Amino acid sequence: MAIRPIRLYPDAVLRTRADEVPEIDAGVRKLVADMWDTMDHAEGVGLAAPQVGVSRRVFVYDDNEGHRGALVNPRYTVPGSDSEFDYEGCLSVPEIGGEIDRPLEIDVTGLDESGDEVRFHADGLLARICQHEIDHLDGIMFMQRLTGDARKEAMAAIRSAEWFGMPAIIGDLVFEELGTAEVEARQLSVADAQDR
Ligand SMILES: [Zn+2]
Repeated sequence: MAIRPIRLYPDAVLRTRADEVPEIDAGVRKLVADMWDTMDHAEGVGLAAPQVGVSRRVFVYDDNEGHRGALVNPRYTVPGSDSEFDYEGCLSVPEIGGEIDRPLEIDVTGLDESGDEVRFHADGLLARICQHEIDHLDGIMFMQRLTGDARKEAMAAIRSAEWFGMPAIIGDLVFEELGTAEVEARQLSVADAQDR
């Protein structure tokens, strides 16, 4: 297991469009493996590469309903016109969330971590996760999908959050320096490997 620190908003990497992955090599497969470990450790349902400081178009997901995977260079289309509001949070914005309107169903394409083409239809939570994570790859945070007072309230809550202004988080631990977080992540990963 190798977990990585999760970057906190408003880190610039979270507000930047991530680059396409030109080739799925060992580095990308290692990134995906680390992102699964990091997502599981944080008990998240999705994680995008920019959240671990890597500006590449990769995300991982696990909806706890049997859908788990990784997508590289993902895209989606919206086949229907139905949308719904539901609550969303983000590992890069701890303890804050909002009700966000999103299309109910999407068709997703991309490559998996082996470079094979993936194509699936998603609805419900899985559709929401994919849209949230692909937003990350475009540098879009969920707060930007809120409107009016809801957006103002979320931004005010962020600015007064204890973690605001810190670069990274691992589990419940917020770090004042990224280097310290990286050392802690390596130690946690080694400790876990020794436990097995
Ligand atoms: Zn997020």
